[in-house]
Amino acid sequence: MTGTNGLEEKGRISKLIQHVIVVPLMVFVLLLSATAYVWHEIKQVQLSQEISDARDDLEFVSAHLAAHLDVRFVLAQLIRQEWIDAQTLNPADFAAIVRPKLQRFMDIQAINWLGPDGVIKWVNPLEGNEGAIGLDIRNHPVASRPLKDAERLKELRVTPPIDLAQGGRGFVVYLPVYELGQLKGFINMVFRISSLIEGALPAGSLQNYDLHITDGETPVFENHLGTHLATPASRQIGVGNRQWTISIAPTRAAGSEFSQASSNLFLLLGLIFTVALPLMLFQLMKRNAELRMTQRRLADWADISSDWFFETDENLRYTYFSPRFEEVTGVPPEQLLGKTRQEGGAPEAEPAELQAILRNMEDRLPYRDFEHSRTKPDGSKVFLSVSARPAYDDTGNFIGYRGIGRDITERKTSQKALNDALIASEHANRAKSEFLATMSHEFRTPLNAIIGFSEMLKEQYFGKLGDKNYVEYATDIHRSGRHMLDLVNDILDFSAIEASKRQMHPEAFSFQDVLSDGIRNVETQLRKKNLSLKQELDADLPPLYADKRSVYQIVLNLLSNAVKFTNPGGGVTITASSDGKVFSFCIADTGIGIAQDQLATITEPFSQSQADPHIAGSGTGLGLTIVKSLVEAHGGALEIESETGVGTRVTVRLSVTKK
Ligand code: ADP
Repeated sequence: MTGTNGLEEKGRISKLIQHVIVVPLMVFVLLLSATAYVWHEIKQVQLSQEISDARDDLEFVSAHLAAHLDVRFVLAQLIRQEWIDAQTLNPADFAAIVRPKLQRFMDIQAINWLGPDGVIKWVNPLEGNEGAIGLDIRNHPVASRPLKDAERLKELRVTPPIDLAQGGRGFVVYLPVYELGQLKGFINMVFRISSLIEGALPAGSLQNYDLHITDGETPVFENHLGTHLATPASRQIGVGNRQWTISIAPTRAAGSEFSQASSNLFLLLGLIFTVALPLMLFQLMKRNAELRMTQRRLADWADISSDWFFETDENLRYTYFSPRFEEVTGVPPEQLLGKTRQEGGAPEAEPAELQAILRNMEDRLPYRDFEHSRTKPDGSKVFLSVSARPAYDDTGNFIGYRGIGRDITERKTSQKALNDALIASEHANRAKSEFLATMSHEFRTPLNAIIGFSEMLKEQYFGKLGDKNYVEYATDIHRSGRHMLDLVNDILDFSAIEASKRQMHPEAFSFQDVLSDGIRNVETQLRKKNLSLKQELDADLPPLYADKRSVYQIVLNLLSNAVKFTNPGGGVTITASSDGKVFSFCIADTGIGIAQDQLATITEPFSQSQADPHIAGSGTGLGLTIVKSLVEAHGGALEIESETGVGTRVTVRLSVTKK
């Protein structure tokens, strides 16, 4: 049963989950999409911010680089002017002009002097630039061209990027020096790209971008940091006679750590929220659905129950009655709702009982089976039984009473009928007992006369009767009279016990003494029938506490039966024992026994299992009935075991202690 219930419960819960999972699932999907969308938007905004930053920085870098180079080209012009003004043409003077400039502009690799033949003559500084001395530029595959252009156009010319004689990549500037229209040579400024860029751009300005500088197709500088986040922005600057293209692209590696962390944090929080909110929603909806189901169950039970339910608030005013209340009492709940028990009309109950219930409610105590009646609007009366207990909220505050009521009209009616019947039967019983007692008493006086006079006749106290038949008849009258007296006595006894009129005088006495008296009474029959008698009494038998006359009557009745229903030569055994609480004695015989089908009713009045009138006739059929009544009047138990042809065993169990 439990297994099936468990399965049903599981099925019910899974149905419930199916029912409530849809909304949280939809919320989950919505939140997930919203998080993904917002995260993507944030990323886009961040990227466009970075792109816009990149464009700003491109302007800055380009302007800076162009200005930087322009300053150096002007410097070349200045050197030329100072050189022309110096009017000398020796290396020392050249070095004197050039050195302060080199110290000031550290990113310049070298400032050289070329003869009109295009061969490098003097190099400043010499250290690190030794490889350049004697180099014939006019034969250089790339630099010869700008040199020639410089000579021809008489102005500064810049080479494209070349491999420097000093090693590394760079570019070179040639500025022709003319005196009176005659070419004296060239001022040659050498730039190493890496030091130029480092010197040109402020520290840290290249950390967030890939910077790419090209001279036409030839790369000048490349600063590759990582994957591009967006297409590069580019701008052109003039470098002397040449055009450089500067491209800048924000990179993933360089993307702002803060913005990346903040967008990741948003994603993380968004995902947590996306999972947590639907879960909470699911729990909430599940609990709500369970609550609704429980409420529906309770409402169903309240609807179909033959009892009704009610509730009050903390001021003991009724707040709820289930529908059954109106069905039973005919009072519409609206008539009582919002009212206290007193305001709703005091029920028809014992004033003391009603006061006790009201006190109970004041003291916030539960009450049970408060029985009262109500007169219905149609005038009929209903009996109600109400029980209730105080209810408390989670924080332990009293919130009112909850209770049930029951229609007990039928029970009350049948109880009354039963009481009436009982009283009537008691009357009848008393009348019967009185009749029996009177009748028996009335019988005994004439019976004693019959017995006394018939005895005188049969014993022929006053002379012979004559015919021997008279003696025989007198003997018959005497025997029948005695039998009738026995019967009358037994009936009197039985009706007295039944009507509880017989006085019991419990006392402590020795069972052995009572037994000896009993045995003495049947000794003659024992001898006549040649029956053996065995006594097996425990040595330390306690005294028995009971009505001595009753125990004697029990023992005598049982002994007489054992002797009467045992064939000559048989035996009777008496045993007695006690465990300190129960005193039991047993009278067993090896007699004719009682048929199984009669055993159950053998203690009923006038029941005799013996069909043989010779045996049965000597008894009244009331002996065992009286024994049973006496044993029960002592709160004891009687047990009869018997088998036809084997014997009978009657056990009596009495309580040892005082009651
Ligand atoms: P009675 O006065 O007839 O003995 P009892 O009530 O004492 O009345 O016994 C009812 C009947 O139970 C007896 O008539 C007899 O048939 C049967 N009975 C009682 N005791 C014994 C016994 N010890 N052995 C066999 N039958 C018995």
